[in-house]
Amino acid sequence: MAGQCAPCATGTAEREPVPREGCDVCQALHRQRESARRAGHPRTVRSRNAEIAAHSHEEG
Ligand SMILES: [Zn+2]
Repeated sequence: MAGQCAPCATGTAEREPVPREGCDVCQALHRQRESARRAGHPRTVRSRNAEIAAHSHEEG
């Protein structure tokens, strides 16, 4: 069962997409997102979120 993001847990009002484990693209985007957040670039954070959300994983 895939884990789902628990809202409110981190104090973030917006729901953020969860990077897929084992996906290099998602992990890279996730890193960029976190560093952008620390640097105070919410637009970059949103942009990375959109990219993570848009990254599809076809299995099977
Ligand atoms: Zn991915």
